[in-house]
Amino acid sequence: MGREIFSARLGRFRELLVREDLDAFLVAVPENRYYLSGYKAGDLALIESSGYLLITADRQFLLTDFRYQEEAKTEAPDFELLIYTEGLGQTLPEVFVSLGTRRLGFEKDYLTVKRCQDVEEALASARPAAGMVPSEDLAQELRVIKDAVEIEQIRKSLQLTESVLETVWTDLRVGQREMDVAWEIEKGIRQGGAESVSFPPIVASGPNAALPHAVPGDRAIRDGEAVILDLGSRMDQYCSDMTRTWVAGRPERRLAEIYRIVREAQLAAQDAIRPGEDSVAVDGVARGVIEKAGYGDLFGHGLGHGVGLAVHEKPGLRKRQPTVLQAGMVVTVEPGIYIPGFGGVRLENMVCVTERGCEVLNRLDLFYDL
Ligand code: ZN
Ligand code: ZN
Repeated sequence: MGREIFSARLGRFRELLVREDLDAFLVAVPENRYYLSGYKAGDLALIESSGYLLITADRQFLLTDFRYQEEAKTEAPDFELLIYTEGLGQTLPEVFVSLGTRRLGFEKDYLTVKRCQDVEEALASARPAAGMVPSEDLAQELRVIKDAVEIEQIRKSLQLTESVLETVWTDLRVGQREMDVAWEIEKGIRQGGAESVSFPPIVASGPNAALPHAVPGDRAIRDGEAVILDLGSRMDQYCSDMTRTWVAGRPERRLAEIYRIVREAQLAAQDAIRPGEDSVAVDGVARGVIEKAGYGDLFGHGLGHGVGLAVHEKPGLRKRQPTVLQAGMVVTVEPGIYIPGFGGVRLENMVCVTERGCEVLNRLDLFYDL
């Protein structure tokens, strides 16, 4: 990717700083760091940061430690590099003085209390009258609308996920253990050129399929059961996420029934997605289909979520937090019905909101006509 894309994003980010009356912003979320600078390093844990961006109206810094120095230089050449040896608090006072920082924004959902205190101390020592402003995630506000290049990258990530699922699907048999199927998925995703899975794959058979986030174990698939397969790749930074439900042999009546309802809910929601539509209303369309069939209580999660640099990002499609859908948003459509002790069905597609409606990004069908 050329550097222009990052400078264009920085320009839009700076407009948000003006809107929020901030003269500087500390970016700590790894996906936001990449989005604005091209710096790819991730964080091993919330308390193990590989760096921060500090962005003002006309300057941009990347603060990190020795381990990431070379990577930072290469990946974010138009950022001023500041290397700290004893933590972020060490380099900041000098920078705050030279910038004359007044109101410093930060991502309030992400920065730990400890880090916040470090920055606050640095700011207080350098600029006693200045303040830290807990802010919404301004970069994510930009990330919700994907440009053509990003959509292409998401497509590639999904394409790989689908090719892996197709192989695993063809080989699925009664007697296979969930954890072995999950490993085949992980292996296929890495061998296919992704840097990682976008989340640990879910392979949930029989009664385990009633747990939306089941962890694959040593349970073997039995005849007549449903197996939920939920998987995704992270390829060139961009994530994919999809689910299909496989049925071993002939499903019993109740399983076939919930399968049909979930598929009907998914198709109805996909039909409802268009620019200007409200996210809560789209969730309501799928929920309405499932409620009408009498399974409303057994669809306990939201209909979908945004996917991009993070596998779960804004906008959410759920009962609360309405968002007006806009062209360029990429979201999942994943209704499910979960019957405790019995099993469950979930079907998940990724769609991109277009000028007129939405495009289903999935190419692989793998749906049953039960
Ligand atoms: Zn999923
Ligand atoms: Zn999902």
